[in-house]
Amino acid sequence: MVDPNRAGPSTVVTAGGQTFLVDCGRGVLMRAAAAGVGAAGVTALLLTHLHSDHITDLADVITTRWVSSMGPNPLPIIGPPGTRAVVEATLAALGPDISYRIAHHADITEPPAVTVREYTDGQVWDSDEVRITAAPTDHRPVEPTLAFRIEHGGASVVLAGDTVPCATLDDLARGAGALVHTVIRKDLVEQMPAQRIRDILDYHSSVEQAAGTAARAGVDTLVLTHYVPPLMPGQEDQWRALAAAEFAGRVELGDDLLRVRIG
Ligand SMILES: [Zn+2]
Ligand SMILES: [Zn+2]
Repeated sequence: MVDPNRAGPSTVVTAGGQTFLVDCGRGVLMRAAAAGVGAAGVTALLLTHLHSDHITDLADVITTRWVSSMGPNPLPIIGPPGTRAVVEATLAALGPDISYRIAHHADITEPPAVTVREYTDGQVWDSDEVRITAAPTDHRPVEPTLAFRIEHGGASVVLAGDTVPCATLDDLARGAGALVHTVIRKDLVEQMPAQRIRDILDYHSSVEQAAGTAARAGVDTLVLTHYVPPLMPGQEDQWRALAAAEFAGRVELGDDLLRVRIG
């Protein structure tokens, strides 16, 4: 669904002077710019999975970083197995553009530099006191899929991505400051006439399920994002009430450009 007022799924996490972009859905660099983050300033791109809505703007992130960096600035890309093939295919599709720019700009002599690392779980980042751990989630038949926990100086945030409740996410999120979770309103999606829409019911968490995960994991704050169907103005209290029925902590509705401070 294309929502004229909402960009695709992406979250920026800043910690210890580092900036992580988690997923890169539609319009990510426009929203990032509004949040004061440019492609050249991203420390690493983390991908929860390779569903198109989470990676549509990968080409934009790669090329914009390339042309806006004034020196070598390789982009670390961390994702599940399959990420390397997607990145290589994206670079192949950008082949003409890359050749034009190298031919035209005297100071651009190399194609975009990326370093891809694929993981299924475990520690994926440890630099200047920022540590990132990945764990598998359950978004089958999409697999493998990852959630990430980013930690710095006692503060922590977990990015769940698209998943149904699972023990591996509960463990990763245990005691975190915040859990950012994609959610659908199952009560509304169930009533939609198109089976293709109802297909999403079996591999996403409802608001209540995401709140249940937050409660089991004992997080402080639950941030709901990637709403399906779109959250209409005036419905905010309904969404909050569904979460509050399962989770007693702070609930934030992750509208575009919402900022949440942790720790
Ligand atoms: Zn997905
Ligand atoms: Zn999604």
